[in-house]
Amino acid sequence: MMKLLSRTFACFFLFATLSVTVQAQGDIQSPSEFLGYELGSQWTPHHKVMDYFWHVAETSSMVEAKEYGESYEGRQLMLAFVSNTENMNQLEEIRTNNLKRTGLLDGEPSADTTAIVWLSYNVHGNETSSSEAAMKTIYELVHPENAETKSWLQNTVVIMDPMLNPDGRERYVNWFQQTVGEEFNAQVEAREHHEPWPNGRTNHYYFDLNRDWAWLTQKESRQRVEEYQEWMPHVHVDFHEQGYDSPYYFAPAAKPFHNAITDWQSDFQYAIGKNNAKYFDENSWLYFTREVFDLFYPSYGDTYPTFNGAIGMTYEQAGHSMAGLGVIQAEGDTLTLDDRLTHHFTTGLSTIEISSQNADRLVSEFSDYYRTARSNPQGEYKTFVIKADNNPDKLQALFDLLDEHQIDYGKATRERTMGGYNYRTGGTERIRVTEDDYLVSVHQPKGVMARILFEPRPELTDSVTYDITAWEQHYAYGIEGYALKQQLEVNETSFSKEDIDNAFDDKPYAYLARWEGLADVQLLTDLLKNDIKVRFASEEFKIDDRMYGRGTLIITRADNKKMGERFDNLVQKLASKNNQQIYGAETGFVQSGPDFGSSSVRYLKKPRVALLAGEGTSLNRVGEVWHYFDRQINYPITLLDTGYFDEVDLDNYDVLILPSAFDGDVLDDERFQEVREWIASGGKLIAVKDANNMLVDKDGFGLKWKEDKADSTAKASDDKLDRYGDQQREYISGSNSGSVYEISMDTSHPLAFGYEDSYFSLKLDADAYSYLDNGWNVGVAKEDAHMSGFVGYKAEEELENTLTFGVQNMGQGSVVYMVDNPLFRAFWYNGKLLFGNAVFMVGQ
Ligand SMILES: [Zn+2]
Repeated sequence: MMKLLSRTFACFFLFATLSVTVQAQGDIQSPSEFLGYELGSQWTPHHKVMDYFWHVAETSSMVEAKEYGESYEGRQLMLAFVSNTENMNQLEEIRTNNLKRTGLLDGEPSADTTAIVWLSYNVHGNETSSSEAAMKTIYELVHPENAETKSWLQNTVVIMDPMLNPDGRERYVNWFQQTVGEEFNAQVEAREHHEPWPNGRTNHYYFDLNRDWAWLTQKESRQRVEEYQEWMPHVHVDFHEQGYDSPYYFAPAAKPFHNAITDWQSDFQYAIGKNNAKYFDENSWLYFTREVFDLFYPSYGDTYPTFNGAIGMTYEQAGHSMAGLGVIQAEGDTLTLDDRLTHHFTTGLSTIEISSQNADRLVSEFSDYYRTARSNPQGEYKTFVIKADNNPDKLQALFDLLDEHQIDYGKATRERTMGGYNYRTGGTERIRVTEDDYLVSVHQPKGVMARILFEPRPELTDSVTYDITAWEQHYAYGIEGYALKQQLEVNETSFSKEDIDNAFDDKPYAYLARWEGLADVQLLTDLLKNDIKVRFASEEFKIDDRMYGRGTLIITRADNKKMGERFDNLVQKLASKNNQQIYGAETGFVQSGPDFGSSSVRYLKKPRVALLAGEGTSLNRVGEVWHYFDRQINYPITLLDTGYFDEVDLDNYDVLILPSAFDGDVLDDERFQEVREWIASGGKLIAVKDANNMLVDKDGFGLKWKEDKADSTAKASDDKLDRYGDQQREYISGSNSGSVYEISMDTSHPLAFGYEDSYFSLKLDADAYSYLDNGWNVGVAKEDAHMSGFVGYKAEEELENTLTFGVQNMGQGSVVYMVDNPLFRAFWYNGKLLFGNAVFMVGQ
């Protein structure tokens, strides 16, 4: 763990203790003076970027800085607030006044029309030039000789986040420093242009932070979005880099737009683009607009701000890790870090300039946006219903997310029956809303975000997009509910799961814990880590007049005799710690179903789990599994690198997880044979998503393409992105870039324990596998299984009657085929139990 700078205040009140404003303007050093080298001649490591920002904050009355958190690896995250001294003296007023405009804070806003521009740098760690540009930008904003920037700051507050992803950036920068000679080598073949696995694009857990703004699965995102909502800026720029041969890209964005985007939002993007173009024209720099980067998927650094009322934009400079400190481009010119940062610096200032020139209009349009959200929201559906009788852990997780986005919800005021869209059936029908049900109305400040998260079928203005087109939250959380066209009155409330009671008067024969969701997997792993022996029911049973479903954990006194007196206390304590209700059974003799001693009640052997990682595997996909074990279910996992995987003794593991791989040869034939033998002797192989491609037609594996698939080019958008960088996005005009499918589940199989007949799955491509001839087809896409999102006509046909989740027994072991990836970006809550089943239940 890296130790941070000394300024580690944990402060939740803006500016209460953390701002440092000293009046001495004369002492401000330029980045080059401060760092001791010309900006652009080498990379500035994270701590020095932070140091420079703190230096500016300490020496200029125009800047305040705030540490808002830290990354997974313990690096500082910070914001700098820049404006003229007069505005700085009333910064808190400007902030609260703006929140009053949105309605997120009570009170009448004043007539003040200060524009708020937020600049986000280096969300992708190996797109390094923008954090360098950030230093140049803040210097030009504050140093006294630049009168122009001073004039903009009379009516504008600029908020700068100089490095959103320090862990990824340090990964890249450290590697580069170790690799480069005294002079950089501009030949693209040189190894300094070929960053190894794991590259620095992602954060510590290999998550793409530019896919996480809405889901907040990562620590960095959660801390940032909390700050973002303290301000709600009017303009937001997310600085990126793309392939090193591309011209600069800036707004306006490409179609498709989500139809929640207002005319003003697209018009002002145009004005910003024109202003940027003016400077690029003056300097004869190439650029392009209105291509490639669309505004649809809500979890980006451009769309998330857009759906929060801002003008949200992505700027892309040529560069990326392949550019190094300098690289020869196709036309023969050398692109340097200095060029790259200069371009980002130019668009940054240009954006501030045009925002300042239009501050009045920006503020009044922003006010209108929120007035409309509160009083006349757009969109087909006005109220989203979440049934009260859903699993409380799922409800808790969903409402926690809504709380993080400041989306209000409450209870229905009375019971009624009406027409509504039923997410489960995908049709409009008579539905009943009771007083216990929860409602999310779009008549609220965050109404647009509510609409984005819950609308059954988000509308595309064009079918070509580079990302998933469906993300509806009832499907993601596996909960029942409806979408209504009427506005229903809402009794605002918060949600908290009913209190559990795990106090027992006597010592039961066994403890029982239901198996319904991620929270139950968390309890299981806690029990296993504490060496408590657990069984699970493979059939439903009834005891004490209560029904228990398949998968129910049965913790018997008989199995845990060795624990003696500690047993009851520990089980009760762990259940309470995980906020899970457990039940006591006085006997193993049940009213119906198998008794606890039956062979249908299986012993759950604590698995030793390994994950293949490294060169040839997909970074994001490895990270999702790693994060799941490390941060979600807190269960040990061993990452095995492809570099030495050949030499690993597989007998040390019970479960091997194969993530998506780009390289079909990450396992050679010989190793394949060994893996097969390991399975036959009792191992369990879990293949996720594209890893299944490797198993097709392999000796002993029953997996087959539905039709002979000569070219299997339709691949997940993310995988393509990881590999080739942003410029490859046009690749993905493909047939299914991510839509929701209803998967029919065989609930009698351990892989489907805890589920009902239907599971809604995010299907990320058109890979169509036929049903297993020799195995269990546990989850399948039948006809008309497509529920939400865009899928091409041909792909839809192709995906009919295909395998989604299957299990094949092989000798004493088994293979789990997960054609869909339930851990994709960690936001499909309802898939997390499925993965838990694959690891803990299947094959026991
Ligand atoms: Zn990027």
